[in-house]
Amino acid sequence: MNKSAVYSISYGLFVLTASQGDKDNGCIINTLIQQTSTPMQVSITVNKANLTHDMIKETGKFNVSVIDDTAPFELFSHFGMQSGKTAQKFGTPDSYKFMPHYSENGLIYLKAYTNAFMSGKVVREIDLGTHTMFIAELTDGEVLSKNPSMTYAKYHAEVKPKPKKPAKSGYVCKICGYIYEGEELPSDFVCPVCKHGASDFEKL
Ligand code: FE
Repeated sequence: MNKSAVYSISYGLFVLTASQGDKDNGCIINTLIQQTSTPMQVSITVNKANLTHDMIKETGKFNVSVIDDTAPFELFSHFGMQSGKTAQKFGTPDSYKFMPHYSENGLIYLKAYTNAFMSGKVVREIDLGTHTMFIAELTDGEVLSKNPSMTYAKYHAEVKPKPKKPAKSGYVCKICGYIYEGEELPSDFVCPVCKHGASDFEKL
């Protein structure tokens, strides 16, 4: 099988937010899909290693903010390349530029670099091993701008920083651009920046 075939699948990009106790958290996903319109149901699939995953499993609710095509790399690094288990993603000065607001369900959504948000209430969970798929009914939503949505392809082509000085030999993370220097990439290697595995690296 040519595993690169899956790179031809087109995706959007979204900030997924949840809350538990007095902590708000968020991460980046590319897995929001509308499944039905009556009732209005969506699915999201979330890595079990993410704090946001545990919050949704516990509370049964989330918001998704649809990232638009004006979003800078900073938004992706803030929400996607650090863990809420060790970093504060909200309530800090560097989070204000994303204009976090609360929706009616008490969860944060982003008003900056987004064109819509939706609130979901989980109605079913499917265990997929490394990830959980949550099926949810939408309880709220609003259009925030007319900007086109960011796509996974545009993120890779235009937003992600280009490697500056390619090493003589090494591997580059196709997700975030991190470079591993060395002849052989260990098969169990995990990107220290975005936590994707060796299969998401390519030889320089
Ligand atoms: Fe990476």
